[in-house]
Amino acid sequence: MTNNPISRRLFLEQLSVTAAVAVTPAWARAAESPPAKKLGVALVGLGGYSTGELGPALRETQFCRLAGVVTGSREKGEQWARDYGFAPKSIYSYDTMARIADDPGIDIVYVVTPNGLHAEHAIAAAKAGKHVILEKPMCNTVAECDAVLAACRAAKVRHSIGYRLFWDPYHAELRRLARTEEFGPFKKMKGDRAFVMNTWRWRADKKLAGGGPLMDLGIYLIQGACMAKNGVAPAFVTAHELPKTRPDISRDTEETLQWTMEWPDGAVAELSTSYQQNFDHFRAEGAKGWIDFQEHAFGYKVGAVETSRGALHYPGPYQQALQMDDFSQCIQTGRATPVPGEMGRRDLAIIEAIYRASASGRREPVKVS
Ligand code: NAD
Repeated sequence: MTNNPISRRLFLEQLSVTAAVAVTPAWARAAESPPAKKLGVALVGLGGYSTGELGPALRETQFCRLAGVVTGSREKGEQWARDYGFAPKSIYSYDTMARIADDPGIDIVYVVTPNGLHAEHAIAAAKAGKHVILEKPMCNTVAECDAVLAACRAAKVRHSIGYRLFWDPYHAELRRLARTEEFGPFKKMKGDRAFVMNTWRWRADKKLAGGGPLMDLGIYLIQGACMAKNGVAPAFVTAHELPKTRPDISRDTEETLQWTMEWPDGAVAELSTSYQQNFDHFRAEGAKGWIDFQEHAFGYKVGAVETSRGALHYPGPYQQALQMDDFSQCIQTGRATPVPGEMGRRDLAIIEAIYRASASGRREPVKVS
């Protein structure tokens, strides 16, 4: 365990969550009796992720429902109100978002805009007195994460990050193996996550995305490696950016980045991400065994997962529905979420260290607190 207070808190929180999982697996929790009133969720930003995943997931949730939207297009908002059956008065624009304060049907605001806008929208939600979920990455910088956490503290509202893989059974098994050390402490991790971006999108824009694929895809590898190390952050990182093949797309951000994370117990993770390749793997090895995510390691439906004891076969859960239901239950019961804003901030601290290492060419310390 670590002496760092934030890492220690995350570590203990993760332990308590995994203890709860031993009684009721996280992916089966939605089977608990639903409350009389479902909490109302407002989605901020009706782009690809809201349309393709979060909206449909909110049709399946038992503890929350879609109760409003914040969108730049009134017409789109009205279509969503018809499709999901909420009142047109609960359609807000980015400029009128503060009025959510007077909407008793909305309990949770889920920020699903480009990364560089997360802080602004999450702070507006907290000031309106609503609990907040921020999509990953939490913000562009640690300083922005701190501003969000301060706003949530001041408003006495809860916060959570859209780390949906905490509700995936394969990733739960990775955390269990890390906790029990059945394969020994994981000492060697390896992973890559990448996709090919054919035309420029905000995800490659420094201001809107905070960086390139490290912010968007590399963060999953950071999550996976920290899960394998029981929630403990690495102490040092080194990084190396590869030459760009599409400088017209990755103009002011990295195209391909390889980096190494090192823990005080000698564990090392070698990771890479890119906007011009196609990968999605993760492997963790201990002295007594290994687990290997061979396909769609961080996908909505995780693919083939092998271990030194044989293949794993779990039912594919609805990650996003379970994630939102769990946060709703956390609010209703006072239980801690396994994916609080502090975890999002930790990951930004690691990302900032990786960018520093890439720029300096040196091994850089990770300052989590
Ligand atoms: P998207 O481009 O499809 O949608 C972004 C939305 O934000 C659009 O509705 C757009 O109109 C709105 N927007 C508001 N102000 C904007 C501005 N100034 N510039 C551009 N768009 C603006 O993106 P997305 O794929 O829905 O991603 C949104 C967030 O969700 C990102 O933070 C992303 O990392 C995250 N995400 C998470 C997952 C996951 O698996 N957890 C998957 C996809 C996306």
